[in-house]
Amino acid sequence: MYKKISLLVLMIASLSLSAQDEAAQLPEFELKKEDIRSQMEFLAGDFLQGRYTASKGNRIAAEYLASHLRAYGYESPEGAENYMQKVPFDASTPPQSSSMTVNNVELEATTDFLILAGPAVNAKAKGVFAGHGWVDEETDHNDYENLDVEGKVVFVLPGPPGSKDPSSILGAMRKKRKLAEEQGAIALVELYQLPFPWAMFANYFGGESLSLADEDEEAPSTITYAWLNKTDDLSFTDIQTAKKLKVNLSSSGFKRERVYCQNVVGVLEGTDPELKDEYLLITAHIDHVGVGSQGGQYTEQDSIFNGARDNAFGTIAMLNTAKALAAERPARSVIILAVTGEELGLLGSSYYADNPLIPLDKVIFNFNTDGAGYSDTGAISIFGWDRTGTNEMIQEGVKPFGLEIIADPAPEQGLFDRSDNVSFARKGVPALTFSPGFKEFDAEILKYYHQVGDEPSTIDYDYLTKYCMAFAHSCRMIANNPTKPVWAEGDKYEEAGKELYGIKP
Ligand SMILES: [Zn+2]
Repeated sequence: MYKKISLLVLMIASLSLSAQDEAAQLPEFELKKEDIRSQMEFLAGDFLQGRYTASKGNRIAAEYLASHLRAYGYESPEGAENYMQKVPFDASTPPQSSSMTVNNVELEATTDFLILAGPAVNAKAKGVFAGHGWVDEETDHNDYENLDVEGKVVFVLPGPPGSKDPSSILGAMRKKRKLAEEQGAIALVELYQLPFPWAMFANYFGGESLSLADEDEEAPSTITYAWLNKTDDLSFTDIQTAKKLKVNLSSSGFKRERVYCQNVVGVLEGTDPELKDEYLLITAHIDHVGVGSQGGQYTEQDSIFNGARDNAFGTIAMLNTAKALAAERPARSVIILAVTGEELGLLGSSYYADNPLIPLDKVIFNFNTDGAGYSDTGAISIFGWDRTGTNEMIQEGVKPFGLEIIADPAPEQGLFDRSDNVSFARKGVPALTFSPGFKEFDAEILKYYHQVGDEPSTIDYDYLTKYCMAFAHSCRMIANNPTKPVWAEGDKYEEAGKELYGIKP
């Protein structure tokens, strides 16, 4: 009796062992901690200066990735040069000097007012209050009706009439500037009433900025555009009710310059004669927030935002996945896409989604990897669990490494819509983010999240190695599975998906 059972146990054990052995022969099971550590030391090293978009450090990280893709046998697709897709940005530098007085009250630049756009100016002019400075033909609303603003400085309440939320107020900036310009005003000044402190606003809009170049954009603003904070000597009621407003305004003007950064793209052909025409798109952002005030709070001793967790971590997972998939090619083809400009608002991924090098309707899935950090090294997290029909594939992908799955951590953060996957989801491509294990933005996460201390020396390399293996294996599961991912019924991107792939209702 005893012997028989033990034989049976032995047989079962050896059976499951051989299944595991087979999986263990896959190249993702052989990723080495030493290699992974050296990649981290390079990508998140001080030398790359926080990989800020369009900086030299960012470019070096991109070249590092491209040279690996070449070595692994990936091709540079049409539209990219040596794996680089050029991404145009507009860099704008705020005026070096500016001054403003209203009815002889002297206002201080940055603390009392902030110039957000416009050329150099030096003017003495009349001021006029113009409601919200809004025109809407549909509702017959026109704040400029019966108002002569030619050659004057126009003061307005923030946003369109009735708007309270910051996004609609900030979203109306460009139109309001245009309207004032059309009316012949020399400057537009919005009165600051937003539900967060002025200092935050001034900090956000007051520095150098990078935005995706809008090639169709009309000529940049020819008038000065500013925001005014309340001061003890000048209330907003004063401005709204004054019979006369005298304004002195000067600014050395904004500088705008076209600069270029890059996404890195490599393509690996699949082995299945039919499925190879379908693509798994694997993404991670390589940019981070740079140095000094570019990045946030820093110290005298350390001003480099290394971004080891955010997102050298994901970049390395993508890099090792590229390696593993090239060593044992999956059925479907694979696109490796390292995007830039994530920290500036998902700019590189949205540029690629608008200018894809492989048509998006051939892309069956976008698997992104990114994260703020980790507090649970026994798990990985998924943003968008249960939404694309890939649960089982991912479970199979992470299980051999003993990792649990945390579904949609920190829901209040809206992480799905804050990660590069959303650039592709919006176009209809089923998309998820694979992230390190955490449940909430607790002290352990905040200790490193966008901090100068997010350095290679603080990384758990046993965990990162497992993370790389699990991501690679999950990608393989999806690339090989005959069933394509699909948006869950009722998902907010379901319609976009049907449209992209031409699925009839
Ligand atoms: Zn970040």
